Amino acid sequence: MAYEKVSKYRDMVYRCNTCRRCPRGPWDPNQPDKLKTPVKQCPSYEANYTLASASQGMILIIRDLLEGKLEATPELVDHMYECVLCRSCNAVCEGMDSIPLGGIQGADIFRELRADFVDMGIAPPKGLKKLCDNIAESHNRQGSGKDRNAWAEGLDIPDRGEIMIFAGCTGSYQDQAVLQSLVKILRAAGVEFGILKDEWCCGAIQYESGMDDAFAVTARHNVEALREAGAKRVVCVCADCFKALAFDYPKAVGELGFEVIHSSELVKELLDEGKLTLTRKPELGKVTYNDPCFLVRSGKRGDKKVIEEPRAVITAAVGEAPAEMEGFGKYTYCCGRSIMAAAAPSTYQTAGKGRVKDAAAIGADTIVTGCINCKSSLKGPAGKEGGGIRVMSLEELVAEAL
Ligand code: SF4
Ligand code: SF4
Repeated sequence: MAYEKVSKYRDMVYRCNTCRRCPRGPWDPNQPDKLKTPVKQCPSYEANYTLASASQGMILIIRDLLEGKLEATPELVDHMYECVLCRSCNAVCEGMDSIPLGGIQGADIFRELRADFVDMGIAPPKGLKKLCDNIAESHNRQGSGKDRNAWAEGLDIPDRGEIMIFAGCTGSYQDQAVLQSLVKILRAAGVEFGILKDEWCCGAIQYESGMDDAFAVTARHNVEALREAGAKRVVCVCADCFKALAFDYPKAVGELGFEVIHSSELVKELLDEGKLTLTRKPELGKVTYNDPCFLVRSGKRGDKKVIEEPRAVITAAVGEAPAEMEGFGKYTYCCGRSIMAAAAPSTYQTAGKGRVKDAAAIGADTIVTGCINCKSSLKGPAGKEGGGIRVMSLEELVAEAL
């Protein structure tokens, strides 16, 4: 049957009342005029400025596909991949009382449609297919033949432990300082930990591209390797890895047998237990925090969200709570999701610039982020639109404060 996977969401697709809230942000009774003002809640809408690029419009497109009124042309398939699956529309719709039986989970619906397109042999688009091929062949999205664990050379990290760091592709191949900072922090606190001998890419790109069979192979490999290494807790520095492991692996392989956490959760525990002391206050000026979409909107209503922990860690490191930008916590504005840039370049660029402008608007000198991929989305625009705002990961901040 065509559209078998997205059909699971058929009721939800027809429950959307086309209220137009999802591209524009949550209802704020103190600012009723916000309704008339397009804001940056949906990065795809911000970049393309058409409802067809927002959750509401894509839901109407899916109704027409299901009813056979619309054909899945190559242009339409590409269009449905321009959404970066940031889950902002899920959060906005979930927060409204006017939708019976709970909110519309737009991002989940669009992902299922992609899986149907893959089953029909008409997706993913070229850029994402290349990344998925890289993961299948080299087990990293960059297609690199280099040693994945080169970032840990000379650090003498065992290949097993109850606490295992899941390094991710960006940390292993592009931005090694983030993982090296985490190692420094854990060693300062006397924590024993390991890294996998043969870690593969987390597979987030395969999952979001709709490549379900390939994603299941990836998930099985990493889960088995982590179990064999004795993992009880797996620590991520990347929000994409965090969501893939914590929320999408169980869909592919069942119960994991270990807990998946973000580094800020562990660092906060170590601070609370007095195992970590931050004595040196880094000179960073006014600090703001960028909530990564997948720390605050992963899973379903009621699932764990990582919102307070990063703020507590920043407060401990710099001596005061971070200043908040417009769009934070559950309603954070997406940075453009660098890992989806291959399919949505204009959304990626527009959202990254927009997020840096949000930081500049409150006079921030430093943006700290809880995700290594957000760091890479924000770094470029920070030099231009941000007039030289510094961008750093939470791990780098804490390592500087040790
Ligand atoms: S998905 Fe939700 S917020 Fe968006 S138009 Fe439909 S009902 Fe409104
Ligand atoms: S997932 Fe994000 S980019 Fe996609 S429609 Fe929803 S808010 Fe827009």
